[in-house]
Amino acid sequence: MKIVDNIYLVPGVVANPYILVDPDGLTVVDTGLPGSQKKILAYITSLGKTARDVKRILLTHSDLDHVGGLAALQKLTGAHTYASQVEANAIAAGRASRQINPSGISLRRVMFSLLRPFMKASPFQVDEILVDGQVLPALGGLRVIETNGHTPGHISFFVPVPGVLFTGDSLVTDQNGIHGSRPGLTWDDARAREAERKQAALGARIVCPGHGPVIMDAAGKFPV
Ligand SMILES: [Zn+2]
Repeated sequence: MKIVDNIYLVPGVVANPYILVDPDGLTVVDTGLPGSQKKILAYITSLGKTARDVKRILLTHSDLDHVGGLAALQKLTGAHTYASQVEANAIAAGRASRQINPSGISLRRVMFSLLRPFMKASPFQVDEILVDGQVLPALGGLRVIETNGHTPGHISFFVPVPGVLFTGDSLVTDQNGIHGSRPGLTWDDARAREAERKQAALGARIVCPGHGPVIMDAAGKFPV
């Protein structure tokens, strides 16, 4: 699904992966549950591109529904991979970067944990560690925004022109708008609120979350 020129959402994958198109190749933001590389590559083919056009894979955090397709997608594409240090350590261990608070667990989450032994991310060593404020050569300058709270090393990505924010799970959306990291899945609530404020102040026009619909005209719709 085209969001704006050169930015696409791969449909039908949990969590949402995004494709960024540049003259030198493609950047993929997050990789979905294990097996999602097939849908991601099929979508890339539909754009008239090939696996070898994927130059960069960026990870917001090491939850299974964001890094599940990573190892297979990297193998098929040869792309350079990026995450924060904390999340890279967890990705290398094939696990999440924090324990889930059991009090907020939903039935869906319980089902998910029952399935977990059958759905583990392969341990994977990312190529490059990202830090807050770093700018990557995608879409004219894609900025790394530290947004820990959902997990201890969560990062988001902001493209100032045209004002697109990729939030991972630090902000999620539904038909009612933009919300903070889901209770019960959040490592640190106070830090998660801080990450919401930080992102609300960026002046993003379009919010591309890990879960929920893309929000156009996002100004004034942030939860803070
Ligand atoms: Zn998550």
